[in-house]
Amino acid sequence: MTTHQPLDNAQATAYRTRVTLLGTSGGPPWWDGSDRAGISTAITVNDSVYLIDCGEGWGPRYRKAGLGPAGFQKGLDDLRGVFITHHHSDHMVDYPNLLLLAWHNGSDGLRQPVQVYGPGDRRVLPPIFDETNRDPIPEVFNPESPTPGLEESTARLLQAYALDINDRMRDNAKQDLREIFEFHDIVLPGTTGDDPNGDPSPAMEPFEVYADENVRVTAILVDHRPIFPAFAFRFDTPDGSIVVSGDTGVCSNLVTIADGADILLHECIDMDWVDSLLGPNSARPDPNLMQHMLAAHTAIEEVGAQAEAAGVDTLVLTHLVPGNTPVEKWQQAQQGFSGHLVVGEDLMHFGLGEPR
Ligand SMILES: [Zn+2]
Repeated sequence: MTTHQPLDNAQATAYRTRVTLLGTSGGPPWWDGSDRAGISTAITVNDSVYLIDCGEGWGPRYRKAGLGPAGFQKGLDDLRGVFITHHHSDHMVDYPNLLLLAWHNGSDGLRQPVQVYGPGDRRVLPPIFDETNRDPIPEVFNPESPTPGLEESTARLLQAYALDINDRMRDNAKQDLREIFEFHDIVLPGTTGDDPNGDPSPAMEPFEVYADENVRVTAILVDHRPIFPAFAFRFDTPDGSIVVSGDTGVCSNLVTIADGADILLHECIDMDWVDSLLGPNSARPDPNLMQHMLAAHTAIEEVGAQAEAAGVDTLVLTHLVPGNTPVEKWQQAQQGFSGHLVVGEDLMHFGLGEPR
């Protein structure tokens, strides 16, 4: 077993395979006193980069991390794949930036179209939380398509920017965006997940989403109820394996997909913060809502046992909620985990395999 220590940009380039934390905060709020960007991670193998989630601020971090060539209208040249774990805004809000700014930041240098994968249509509306106490009952937004998947969401986003897209193609001779990106809804195997309002993460084996000469990417459903589908991804590379939990409560599928991984990047929530918002001594005690938040996320006290059960070498905490909880507090996640724990910071890299 090797442990993986955080590296800076220069140290990281010695490794053929590396993970880069672009943004490490979770949740849509802007956290006071935190300069963590929104959740986003990059995995580099040889000279191909795979991006996981597009939280707020991923683009400038991508550039600062040195993941592509520097220079005017350069940067995304090595991007090969994009994988969205689930359709919550904090994971997607800077996805339009990827589509619209690629032209101006390196799409000319791409060696092939970027393959973009994300959850498909939920098909069924999520239940109304605490419905008996709700007045008014919320009206369905966009009832003709209230739960779109990645392909449809992308088409609608691009429609919204049609003027810019036509302008750039006609006035600046930019390449057709439809040749730069290819979009894919992730198809669940067999009858898995047929009831999105039932068990959101029925026991299953990881299934293949994507493969090329650098990586094999597999996915599994995790428990981020009522969001469905919500995925964890595993990247198997020639130098080892990396698992990205996405957002999840304690969930056996996460242990399944993370089995024996070299690096597990896992979300985490500070329960004391939840308690201060909704606990019995808070201004607005709400045990139901508290339970609801807990089911969808993994507490500091719980994450170590997940990593231990999976037998991972290094556990890296990311998607930290709230983004301004002190590092010393997150370090309590070592509890129940005999491996190496790192509290993630933006722009940390980790190398896999031997340096070149
Ligand atoms: Zn989420």
